[in-house]
Amino acid sequence: MGAGHRSILIAGAGATGLAAAVELARRGFRPRIIDSDAGPVPLTESRALGINARTLTLLSPSRVADTILQEGHRIDRFRVRSGGKGLFEIDPSKIGGRFPAIQALAQGHTERLLLGKLSDYEVEPEWQTVLESVSGTMDKPHVTLRRADGSREELDPDILIGADGAHSAVRKAAGFDFPGDALEESFHLADYRYPQPIDAHYVEISLFNPGMVGRIPVSRDTVRYISTLPDFESHIEHPVPGGELVWAANFRIHFRHVERMSKGNVFLAGDAAHIHSPAGARGMNLGIEDACWLAYLISEGREQDYSGLRMPAVKMVLKQTYGLTRLVTMHHPVATGLRNFFAPLLIRIPGITRRILRSVAGYDTPPPVWIDDAQ
Ligand SMILES: Cc1cc2nc3c(=O)[nH]c(=O)nc-3n(C[C@H](O)[C@H](O)[C@H](O)COP(=O)(O)OP(=O)(O)OC[C@H]3O[C@@H](n4cnc5c(N)ncnc54)[C@H](O)[C@@H]3O)c2cc1C
Repeated sequence: MGAGHRSILIAGAGATGLAAAVELARRGFRPRIIDSDAGPVPLTESRALGINARTLTLLSPSRVADTILQEGHRIDRFRVRSGGKGLFEIDPSKIGGRFPAIQALAQGHTERLLLGKLSDYEVEPEWQTVLESVSGTMDKPHVTLRRADGSREELDPDILIGADGAHSAVRKAAGFDFPGDALEESFHLADYRYPQPIDAHYVEISLFNPGMVGRIPVSRDTVRYISTLPDFESHIEHPVPGGELVWAANFRIHFRHVERMSKGNVFLAGDAAHIHSPAGARGMNLGIEDACWLAYLISEGREQDYSGLRMPAVKMVLKQTYGLTRLVTMHHPVATGLRNFFAPLLIRIPGITRRILRSVAGYDTPPPVWIDDAQ
């Protein structure tokens, strides 16, 4: 039996599940992909905004990268300010290479581009279909699905991919632990749409004592403000008057990951396997990277290597994101004073700027071996 004839069920049609489906379909498989929701994330709930160069590289064979480049906005400046004064600025184009270090595009758009590509391969997600349970052995999982009309379907896929997000039913049913902690702080975000175009090419972090407000472009007329301060809207410097709040959310940040990303023929990818803060914009990118590696390894008949190959990258990104989150959320006046004094000095050291940019671009994880010119 050829590899392409193995039956594959993907639970979850978020960015991770869709990327897995596109990459599998591109390689000649016909995966089934199900999702409990009625469709992709609404366009106003932008969630993940940053698509890094590694993701663009991974999505280049399917040409999804081309459409992301057309629809998104290249970030060409990172500014950090404190007390109203500029601390330092970084130019991401210094990373060089085939793709911009980071491109801004709302998650709902990215998911729609992946969906469009998937339909070129004649694979459509089965919406309003819930993975209810996983039983049997992990080598031959037995899955029960439930549809919106209450009907059930039982199936025994050769491979089950849990790309069903932070509360993953696959992870729970298959008995994976998900150890980690939650930060004490809550994060607050607000997306404002303005009546005229705004500068969609820069990201700015304003540090307060304590707290921070981040400004990230969502599109040509919409900006995301994200903060640890409940009253952060009073700190926003709107680029033009007349902004309208189009989406707001509050969330607590967890740092958790599984210890292994597979058991038998059950594989976890994306938020189902690891969750962390949005600092560094790695969440969705890491999930897409998992998905592309898993599709490649399945096509090579080497899927049992997946966990061993991905876990070091996941642990490294979580550690780095934790450090970055701590840096922007620190409270103690001595610590914030030291950070504000040393950061502009350290940033002038070329090796440090390069390390930061490699991380922004996602180039600090192993390059995809199946793509020439991956960096
Ligand atoms: C408010 C908010 C803001 C965020 N901001 C950022 C950001 O700025 N940058 C960043 O990188 N990341 C951010 N993230 C995280 C980012 O959105 C996730 O990392 C990304 O969505 C992970 O994609 P995923 O496909 O793995 O999981 P998800 O997007 O969660 O997709 C999982 C899918 O599985 C489906 N599903 C769940 N259970 C079942 C089931 N039992 N059966 C069938 N289907 C099921 C869900 O309906 C969903 O469509 C944010 C998240 C939130 C909530």
